[in-house]
Amino acid sequence: MLGVFGDVLKVRKLGYEPDVIYIGLDKIRGFDDRVVPLLWVPWAVGLREGVVDVYDRYYLFAFGNSGCIANPSIVRRAIEALERVYELGYRRVMLDAIRLPSPIDGLFFLSTCFCRYSLELCPRLSHLRNKIRATLHRASAVDIIELLEELAYVRAVHVEYLLSIIYDKARELGMELTAAVFPYPLSKYVGQEPKVLKRYLRKVHVMLYHMCPGAACLNAEIKQLVEILTALGIKYDEVQELLRRVTGLELSMGEVKGLDRGLDIRHVEVLAELNRHVCGDAYVPILWLDSDSMDILEEFVKRYHRLDVFVA
Ligand SMILES: [Zn+2]
Repeated sequence: MLGVFGDVLKVRKLGYEPDVIYIGLDKIRGFDDRVVPLLWVPWAVGLREGVVDVYDRYYLFAFGNSGCIANPSIVRRAIEALERVYELGYRRVMLDAIRLPSPIDGLFFLSTCFCRYSLELCPRLSHLRNKIRATLHRASAVDIIELLEELAYVRAVHVEYLLSIIYDKARELGMELTAAVFPYPLSKYVGQEPKVLKRYLRKVHVMLYHMCPGAACLNAEIKQLVEILTALGIKYDEVQELLRRVTGLELSMGEVKGLDRGLDIRHVEVLAELNRHVCGDAYVPILWLDSDSMDILEEFVKRYHRLDVFVA
């Protein structure tokens, strides 16, 4: 079973006929039984809906379009979008970006979100503010590990908060929820704790993108993570250890330097297996399709039975 994000014609030219096509809700005009609408969950209409850092600066993450998922305006917009999907006749939806900032957002990855709604949702955040400020000023690898674990906890609370609201609405409408998420363990640090995801989602589609420029692309996320850690004064051997912990990957210095050329496809295979283990039956891998991933496409279809591809 093959699902496609992006250019369906390119996939057909390669001799594959997609079973499922994921299309952004804003581009859908009517019902098509092969289409699954894609909802950009943290969609923000202005900076005031953005995430807020420890210095009270507002920021729109991902593609400069995403705000805090604890913000009632964003929650309301997500529910309205779900109702629109239902009215169009669809009974399944894919949630995209149900999370908080990632390494590609630079220091905002470590310093958000402290908006009033986040503070209401997670009162323990108020104790974290000074710790983050101190860590951004002078950090050791141990400080960063501790901080990341605390952030993972409060961010999972954020994701569970919104996911539980969307889930209740979906259940009322008789709809099935799936989502495109970051690969574990990086997923944890943007709030996508696998246990939480499996509680609410019928399928967990894991983005294993080895070569692209934007948010959720592993080469770009890892490159930015290295830049953050280096800027905080972490030494190279500790950077490698932190990378292993945050991404689940063992990367050589040469590989880190070559991330603009993409992440070696064998790392994608490692993460694909790790995430199958973590997600179980709910798991569907998503590959970024290009000449490198073409080599493993057939093998992935055989191994995982169900596969999605993103075609730019
Ligand atoms: Zn917030």
